[in-house]
Amino acid sequence: MLSYEQARNKVIEEVGKRRGPSATAVVSVWEALGLVLAQQVKTDREYPPFDRSTRDGYAVRSKETAPGAQLKCVGEIKAGDTVRESLHAGTCLQIMTGAAVPAGADAVVMIEQTSREGYLVRFERTAQPGQNIVPRGSEAFAAQTILTPGMRLGYAELALAAQVGAAQLECARRPRVAILSTGDEVVLIDETPGPFQIRNSNSVSLAAQVRIAGGEPVVLGNAADRIEDLGEKIERGLKENALVLSGGVSMGKYDLVESALKAMGAEFFFDAVAIRPGKPAVFGMCQGKPVFGLPGNPVSTMVTFELFVAPAIDLLSGAAARALPLVEARLAEALKEKSGLTHFLPARVEWRGTVAEVKALKWLGSGDIAALAKANCFLVIPADREKIEAGENISVLLRKDVV
Ligand code: AMP
Ligand code: MG
Repeated sequence: MLSYEQARNKVIEEVGKRRGPSATAVVSVWEALGLVLAQQVKTDREYPPFDRSTRDGYAVRSKETAPGAQLKCVGEIKAGDTVRESLHAGTCLQIMTGAAVPAGADAVVMIEQTSREGYLVRFERTAQPGQNIVPRGSEAFAAQTILTPGMRLGYAELALAAQVGAAQLECARRPRVAILSTGDEVVLIDETPGPFQIRNSNSVSLAAQVRIAGGEPVVLGNAADRIEDLGEKIERGLKENALVLSGGVSMGKYDLVESALKAMGAEFFFDAVAIRPGKPAVFGMCQGKPVFGLPGNPVSTMVTFELFVAPAIDLLSGAAARALPLVEARLAEALKEKSGLTHFLPARVEWRGTVAEVKALKWLGSGDIAALAKANCFLVIPADREKIEAGENISVLLRKDVV
């Protein structure tokens, strides 16, 4: 049986080698947050376009600022002012943050390090050449590539595009991910379930997880535990870029998802992973599309999505697979688990200053959504550990949506 790292790498390898170029669309920078860029963005000119002062103070010739030296202030330069004249020997110019440093000046002395009487400015110490000036062209030269295809657009990337006037960006379209729940006991969330039925919460959590991962959920509803119904709905799902099923992958007599997928021509790369919850997770390719059969217990569905489906969505978006958000935290209370499988336990991490401390939450197993709703992470207990003492450092998988 594969470890979760091996299974995840398998997904990345198989989806990575088959993905074609993503469809693209031109999107305004105002709407492009979280999308993956599909073009190069180049600077329209040098950055900064002029020698820029980073302080409010005085533009000077540094060698004229020995301690106690005085220079006559002959004018001021505000941010945005056109600067044509150069600084004459024996003088200084008052200058503001973001303003252009005049020719002749080689330093800006911050106002806090000066005193002034009328036109005369007195300096406390010798300025270093270049201090408080960002030289023209030092951040980027003209026509320099500053954003490349495959980059995910966060707020800084969007600001960079805006800075160079790239108001419209060609981005990969969000991959469309079909979501199909299965089970004779499952009813719509706006229906009143019979005494032995349950509402379809998995389609809701999966749709949210698809969105967070950068995909566009296409919710197909629920398939009964019958090969024909599964087949029909799987066929519909295979029209999208990827298909995620929940339920029907365990050992029960009515767990028919794998057989239904096989009948449609699926090739499987794993159908079990050494984890709890989530052991029966299935991954394959069917008619050229990645398909995931996630176990139906809600917490299993959530964990296996994060481990195996999220990286596939990254790749289908034209980006690299992002690393799992794993961090180390100090275990607050000792833990005992059976060894053999990597465990993902609902837990809460709290930061005491910069030290992360984590505590497992009480839970009743992989159906316990309420426990997960109190959790902001999963404690990751390696397969070879049984007892972990309080105070030990342990890996924690963050819930990206709440931390
Ligand atoms: P299965 O993986 O089909 O054996 O289902 C395991 C457990 O998850 C059962 O208790 C199911 O009732 C429950 N379950 C299956 N599908 C869903 C769903 N869509 N929403 C909520 N719970 C589900
Ligand atoms: Mg089922």
